[in-house]
Amino acid sequence: MTGIPVGISACLLGKEVRYDGGHKHSRYCTQVLAKHFEFRSLCPELEAGLGVPRPAIHLREHEDGLRLVENKGAGDHTEAMQAFIQQALPTLGELRGYILMAKSPSCGMERIKIHDADGTFMNRDGRGLFADALIKAYPLLPVEEEGRLNDSVLRENFIERVFAYDDWMQNVAGENLTKHSLLDFHKRYKFALLAHSEKIYRQLGPLLADLKSEPIADIADKYIHSFMKAMTQQVSKGAHVNAMNHLLGYLKTDMSAADKTVLLEQIDAYHRGEVPLVVPMTLLRLAQRREPVDYLSTQKYLTPYPDELGLRNNV
Ligand code: SF4
Repeated sequence: MTGIPVGISACLLGKEVRYDGGHKHSRYCTQVLAKHFEFRSLCPELEAGLGVPRPAIHLREHEDGLRLVENKGAGDHTEAMQAFIQQALPTLGELRGYILMAKSPSCGMERIKIHDADGTFMNRDGRGLFADALIKAYPLLPVEEEGRLNDSVLRENFIERVFAYDDWMQNVAGENLTKHSLLDFHKRYKFALLAHSEKIYRQLGPLLADLKSEPIADIADKYIHSFMKAMTQQVSKGAHVNAMNHLLGYLKTDMSAADKTVLLEQIDAYHRGEVPLVVPMTLLRLAQRREPVDYLSTQKYLTPYPDELGLRNNV
C-alpha cells in the first residue's frame, strides 16, 4: 500500500537541517504515522539557500510587512525565502496534510515571535513565512504543528481530516467529480459531519438537494470548504453521544434487548468520561457487523482511519 502524501518539516524526520546542525526528530511521525503517510519533507530555510549551520533568524515587522532577519547582524533572507515559497507551493497540490515544526519563523503555524524593525521583541502573534503561504495557498489542507499532536484530541482530529481529505481528493475532486461521487461522499460522512458540526451538517443537505441550480464544480467547491471547516471543529463528548444515538436508531430493530442495554450503558459511561470512545464505538461496530444495515456499512464515522492508530483509545 502506498501511504497518503503528507508534507512535513524536514527536521521532524530527524534530518540535521536546523540552524545549529541539529534536528527535532518526532518518533510519533517516523514510527507511527509513517506507516500510513508517505512523508514529503521540506526544510524551507535550507532550500532557500541559508545553509547548515546558519545564523539564527527571526521575524521583524517592517512597514512593507514581515521580514526574515538574522537575530544578530543585518542579514535579511526575506527575498530568498519568498523565492523558495513561490517555487515550492505549486508542487504541493498533491498533499493531503502537512505537519509543521513549532516556534520556527519559517515553519511555525502560530504564536511565532514578532520583533520590531530594530529587533526588539513585540509579541507572539506571528506565523512562519512558509507556513503562512502554505495555509493561504491551500486553505482546505489539514495543517497541524507536531507539538500539538501530543494532545490526543487534536491528534485524532488532524488524522481524521487527513483521511477525509484524501478520500475527497481521490474520489470526488477533479475529473472524478460527478453528482454521484459528490452525493456518495456526503452519504459516507453524514454521521462524522453530524458529530463535528450539526449546524454545517444541516446546511450541507440543502446545498446538495438541487444539483442543477449551479454548475456542479461550484457546488462541490462550496461543499468541500464547509465540510473541511466542520471537520476542523473538535467533537465534544455530547456531540459524539448524539451521533451514536442517531446511529443506534438505525440498528435498534435488529438488536437484542440485552445488546442494546449494554450499548446504551457504555454510551453513558463514555459521556461521563469513564471509558474512552473506542468502547461504545466497538460495540456499535460489532452490532453493525452482526446484522449489517446497508446505510451504515459505508459510514466513515464508524471507521475514519485504520484501527491500529489507536486514536479512539484516548478521546
Ligand atoms: S523548522 Fe522548518 S526551517 Fe527550521 S529546520 Fe525545521 S524544517 Fe527547516
